[in-house]
Amino acid sequence: MPIIRLDRVDKIYANGTIGLQNISLTVQAGEFWLITGHSGSGKSTLLKLLYGGEFPTRGTVEVQELPVTPANLLPLRRRLGIIFQDYKLLADRTVRENIALVLQCQGYSPLEVKKRVSYALQRVHLADKGQCLPGELSGGEQQRVSIARAIVHHPPLLLADEPTGNLDPENTWQVMQILHKLHQEGMTILLTTHDRQWLSCDYPYRRLELNHGRIQTIV
Ligand code: ADP
Repeated sequence: MPIIRLDRVDKIYANGTIGLQNISLTVQAGEFWLITGHSGSGKSTLLKLLYGGEFPTRGTVEVQELPVTPANLLPLRRRLGIIFQDYKLLADRTVRENIALVLQCQGYSPLEVKKRVSYALQRVHLADKGQCLPGELSGGEQQRVSIARAIVHHPPLLLADEPTGNLDPENTWQVMQILHKLHQEGMTILLTTHDRQWLSCDYPYRRLELNHGRIQTIV
């Protein structure tokens, strides 16, 4: 079953720069895609079009048959989680508070929030770090908190924009193991990367290579 469909999508930014050109792509539920390409080839733009950070200039984008439009942002965000290279954690909130925020915005009861945050922290091997501030954690730990935040509402889709770009090989390996496990449990994952550690790993990824905003290869 398709979880993502892009049909003849162009993204041209306000200053005239071409982000993506004529992209048609179908991602089936349960696939793990690596998105590669030189800097500026359109990798982040593709993810932004999926989470509604940007909207196409032409063509359509759908996630679980929901058109990605400004009016659909709320239901869209329930269907996906996002992680970034720079984690984007709130520095003045504890780890638990950072993760809980997503659920509080979605109206979960305090008891349900507590249970789900604890479970998400276990999934990323940080059960003992809930009361820390992000600044008290290593980069690898902060990225694992951001994974917990992204999956705490059990979305079917995870978008990861260069998630290991700031991490050393050991921490990269830990993040890889966590994402592989989530994938094995059925999550669909799209991840942008340059990192050899992902590209040379023997795992059943699909591969999409972008070049100047166009699809170069799909494997
Ligand atoms: P990548 O993630 O592969 O490095 P991006 O998707 O960030 O590439 O960028 C694709 C192209 O779009 C680049 O030429 C970039 O400069 C341009 N671009 C990205 N965001 C904007 C923006 N907000 N305004 C104008 N141009 C942008």
